[in-house]
Amino acid sequence: MRAGALVRDLEFVQFHPTVAMLDGDLFLISEAVRGEGARLVNKDGEYFMGKYYERAELAPRDVVSRAVYNELVRTGGVYLDVSSIENFEEKFPAISGFLRAHGLRPGKDLIPVVPAAHYTIGGVAVDALGRTSIRGLFAIGEASSSLFHGANRLAGNSLLEALVQGYLVIRAFKAYYSGDAWGLPVIGRYDVVAHTRCRLASYVDMGRAGDVLWRYVGIVRSEDGLRRAIDELEGSLLPSLIAKAAMIRRESVGVHYRVDYPSWSGTKFHILFRCGDAA
Ligand SMILES: Cc1cc2nc3c(=O)[nH]c(=O)nc-3n(C[C@H](O)[C@H](O)[C@H](O)COP(=O)(O)OP(=O)(O)OC[C@H]3O[C@@H](n4cnc5c(N)ncnc54)[C@H](O)[C@@H]3O)c2cc1C
Repeated sequence: MRAGALVRDLEFVQFHPTVAMLDGDLFLISEAVRGEGARLVNKDGEYFMGKYYERAELAPRDVVSRAVYNELVRTGGVYLDVSSIENFEEKFPAISGFLRAHGLRPGKDLIPVVPAAHYTIGGVAVDALGRTSIRGLFAIGEASSSLFHGANRLAGNSLLEALVQGYLVIRAFKAYYSGDAWGLPVIGRYDVVAHTRCRLASYVDMGRAGDVLWRYVGIVRSEDGLRRAIDELEGSLLPSLIAKAAMIRRESVGVHYRVDYPSWSGTKFHILFRCGDAA
């Protein structure tokens, strides 16, 4: 970005709803476990997903993440109850190993879970061939904003993204060295292009930045929290731009949820940033 690349869609950070947290160690508990019948329960012993979504535990990731977050804040704990799954250890050997290593009985004990930041949908803006706004610079994979995932990535689609972009970028690379014209990422009619000062603070405490992001720029966002985050993240380029993009997007769509603007505005647009003063 400091070399002049445009970045896009930074406000869209996907959280995975169920990451086991034991003695400070984290381990992702895949959707397959809920698919097999595991149920989420809060600290008061209440199975809560049914009140958030008709299909309860089978709701999309963003819905489950918000529900888990709400119940965590409300009751102080959320757990996965896997006791109804037959042959749990055979079906989920890696998860079982993690649980055992932390003194839990796989398939029997409740698993304490939290949502965790999982995939960055936004990134360096590229066209369909991985070409950025800087001639000769390509970006693919999670570092890129390919528009591949819309506002809400489906599970497993990074694999597809890696395969498709990997294939296309090699062709684009060859074409570039054969002297073909350079395409630029398209800026849509309703897109917002914001200019930002990119000077970095001499020291950034990333642990503190993570804390501020979790607190104010996480699963549930609001104008007050975002304003506070923008102040506190000054000089920490990427975290502060995530907060600024979330502030500009006064609506809720996909993985971006604003409690003060809980519905979609109906207009499709992207927020892009570039370093420097407005022309
Ligand atoms: C716990 C977890 C489970 C997931 N499960 C799935 C799944 O089941 N299916 C799915 O499709 N997606 C899944 N994802 C998402 C998927 O894994 C990632 O989106 C994907 O791996 C990103 O690939 P990448 O090559 O773009 O980036 P990365 O895999 O992050 O690779 C970037 C590489 O660049 C290196 N690097 C960074 N900075 C520098 C530097 N300055 N110089 C040199 N090298 C550098 C890094 O060390 C790294 O090796 C999961 C993600 C997580 C966190």
